Amino acid sequence: MAEDKFTAIIVGAGPAGSTAAYVLAKEGHEVLLIEKGAQPGSKNMFGGRMYCHALNRIIPNFWEEAPLERPVAREIITLLDGDQSVSVSCQDLTWTRPPYHSFTLLRAEFDAWLASKAEEAGAMVACNIRVDDLLIDSGRVVGIRAGEDEMLADVVIAADGANSVIAQKAGLAQMFAPHQVATGVKEIIELPPETISQRFQLDGNNGAAQLFVGACTKGMQGGGFLYTNKNSSSLGLVVNAAELQRNQYRLPDLMEDFKTHPHVAPLIEGGRVAEYSAHLIPEAGLAMVPQLYGDGIVVVGDAAGFVLNLGYLVRGMDFAIASGEAAARAVMAAKSQGDFSRQGLGIYRKILKESFVLRDLEFYRRAPEFQENPRLFQTYPRLATAFASRLFTVDGSPPVHLLQKILREIKESRLGLSRLAIDGWRGATWL
Ligand SMILES: Cc1cc2nc3c(=O)[nH]c(=O)nc-3n(C[C@H](O)[C@H](O)[C@H](O)COP(=O)(O)OP(=O)(O)OC[C@H]3O[C@@H](n4cnc5c(N)ncnc54)[C@H](O)[C@@H]3O)c2cc1C
Repeated sequence: MAEDKFTAIIVGAGPAGSTAAYVLAKEGHEVLLIEKGAQPGSKNMFGGRMYCHALNRIIPNFWEEAPLERPVAREIITLLDGDQSVSVSCQDLTWTRPPYHSFTLLRAEFDAWLASKAEEAGAMVACNIRVDDLLIDSGRVVGIRAGEDEMLADVVIAADGANSVIAQKAGLAQMFAPHQVATGVKEIIELPPETISQRFQLDGNNGAAQLFVGACTKGMQGGGFLYTNKNSSSLGLVVNAAELQRNQYRLPDLMEDFKTHPHVAPLIEGGRVAEYSAHLIPEAGLAMVPQLYGDGIVVVGDAAGFVLNLGYLVRGMDFAIASGEAAARAVMAAKSQGDFSRQGLGIYRKILKESFVLRDLEFYRRAPEFQENPRLFQTYPRLATAFASRLFTVDGSPPVHLLQKILREIKESRLGLSRLAIDGWRGATWL
């Protein structure tokens, strides 16, 4: 059996797993990357944009070869309430030049490319295989079982995404609670490239990322998103799973309402739905990070709950890539010591702490609590849209100064100045 033993078996060929496989294989280690989908990426979905910094460290200038859609030049946040909406838009053209800030991309192509980089580096990639269980010997993980097959490794890397069965089987994680995750749905809507560029006032192949808050989730915790690709837009909704359950809404119904909302429909008008997908997103931050390693096992990416949702930005891909790299480095350090025990792999946490992964999650540790405030999804979108509408309305009524307009809206919203001050303070210091 010895010649069949890998340094690492990695479960899941998403960005976390493929990065770990790439880094290990490049250093000459025997790596097996196992993916349950027919191709890496075939089962994966996300909103649509990856921040570049993490991958650029590992594959410098990756944009020269990776299948990417558009570099994001424009960020838009839209508060929605019925007939009214308010948008804040920011454009920065430096984001569209090397080293680039972020790209929209399609996971089926991108994940397949990243796994092929791992394969080129020497990793063995096995698709269409679902890992069913871990092999455990004297309390230590020694390999995996997939159907009738058993395979051995010094370390198993759990890169199997949100609600990791592998981390649960190792006793490192527990099944999530509904309030800790959101459910996301997305449609890829095909449109001619020039139509997309015109609608978002984009030059050439530049892209836009638009987030929506308010009426699109019927005031529930969550929001909508639209990312422009080359020939399509990725449009979707994310709603906290506990809120969905409590309010008895069906996400596909919410999605239909979202698509026909008067402020969204013109953005996708004339488009053809090419793909529909749904996925879980861990969003409780540090509170849902499991034990990150055990004897013979390390947990990375979404399996480790490494997602940051600040409302105005969503990051999971860069955390997945950086944690995959950290896991690979931890395995190499453990190998050099000949110690794959929990203690030997403990360096994984240290590497994560030195990287942005645990630093940023700790820095934004109160962001998930901030998002639980229902006023963010109900009162404030209504207040902002009503105020903006009043600001721009000329109808012959007696004029009032700006301060009075603001105070009048606050009074009508029954928010109260103290609540507004507390929410404002929290937003400014927690996000
Ligand atoms: C709706 C939505 C919108 C998002 N938007 C963004 C965004 O715009 N930007 C961003 O950075 N992040 C975003 N994210 C988060 C991002 O998608 C994840 O953080 C990222 O995909 C995590 O990568 P991963 O490799 O850890 O897991 P995944 O990408 O989930 O990959 C896990 C892999 O493991 C495989 N697998 C699972 N179980 C097994 C098994 N038993 N055997 C073999 N293979 C298995 C799966 O098929 C999959 O290929 C979004 C997520 C969602 C759901």
